[in-house]
Amino acid sequence: MSVAVEDFIPVFKPVLGDAEHVAVSEALEVGWLGMGSYVAEFEERLSAAIEAEDRHIAAVSTGHAALHLALLLAGVGPGDEVITPAFNNVADFQAIVATGASPVLCDIDDTTLCIDVDAAAALVTPSTKVIIAMDYASALADHAAVTDLADAHGLRVLHDAAHSLGATCLGRRVGSFSDLCMFSFDPVKTITTIDGGALVVRTQDELDALRAMRLMGMRQEPATMYGNARPATYDVEQLGFRYHMSNVHAAIGVAQLERLDEFAESRRAICRGYNAVLADVPDVSVPDADFDEVVPLLYCIRVPAEQRDSLRAHLSERGVDNGIHWKPGHRFTMLRESRRGPLTVTDRVADEILSLPLHPFMPDAWLDRVTDAVRSFFGP
Ligand SMILES: *Cc1c(COP(=O)(O)O)cnc(C)c1O
Repeated sequence: MSVAVEDFIPVFKPVLGDAEHVAVSEALEVGWLGMGSYVAEFEERLSAAIEAEDRHIAAVSTGHAALHLALLLAGVGPGDEVITPAFNNVADFQAIVATGASPVLCDIDDTTLCIDVDAAAALVTPSTKVIIAMDYASALADHAAVTDLADAHGLRVLHDAAHSLGATCLGRRVGSFSDLCMFSFDPVKTITTIDGGALVVRTQDELDALRAMRLMGMRQEPATMYGNARPATYDVEQLGFRYHMSNVHAAIGVAQLERLDEFAESRRAICRGYNAVLADVPDVSVPDADFDEVVPLLYCIRVPAEQRDSLRAHLSERGVDNGIHWKPGHRFTMLRESRRGPLTVTDRVADEILSLPLHPFMPDAWLDRVTDAVRSFFGP
């Protein structure tokens, strides 16, 4: 069976419209292409969207940069350990390694596919500094339990909310309640700035350090840059990186944030549509969710491990793109020696998981094509 390129249904598809094109033109017209007024506006709008008035936010160049800076802010360095779910994005592992610390790989909960907090507790040692709690696809980590564990051992919590912008947890918006919380705005995330990220911190001191670290360590009055101007002089007191967000990226982000609620409703509706059909397919396990409180980034099913590769081929032949999120950390050469607990659930899930196409405003006809393709694989 061959499917024309234009009939191929992608797993991810950013939604960009006239507003984004206008925003880019305006930002280019202003002519201050680096970090400036649009970044200030994006940070303010993001803070409002996540209802984090009592927190501080800095936009950065990528989600990976946000993770790296968060770990440095937490004082993580050589000799330290950071506990992360083994089932996580490569960016998290790389951010830990970049600080000189060692990733410690933890198993996940079989239902949420987020960190198993009891398993994490068993991995804490005097070298542990941070525990990473990542929200996966359409589920949230058990943030109350993670916070209790961290408090009991004096650890910092880094909440990876790359999948959960717009979600609500125990009545509070994701981003508004964590110790350190990061977002990503790469091309496939809930909203995009093309490339971008953000870190939410609790104190003005942390914000000041973060602002310097994203800009080569340069300490300066933020009002100057946020006013599209260069300071006359500045001091450098600490390690820094070229991790700031630029005006053009931020302008796209402002336009995208306007549509967050619209994107959210559409993503929820598609996931509910998938669940309604696929829950009845024997051998397919669907997310145990009504999607009311989350904004799903991925729609993942689980299928018998021995059938997954042939299902992938079957879907591809029918023009249905699909993906695996993720190959777990301990299967990468770089992390072969990393300390870990038992990874029984991770290993099982890694062989069963499959991401189906999910993007805002996906036509109903596409949803039908995806579900028909899955159903036809498992029989009439
Ligand atoms: C995308 C993603 C990241 C990394 O963000 P980038 O902006 O791509 O660097 C980190 N964690 C998770 C869970 C992600 O999905």
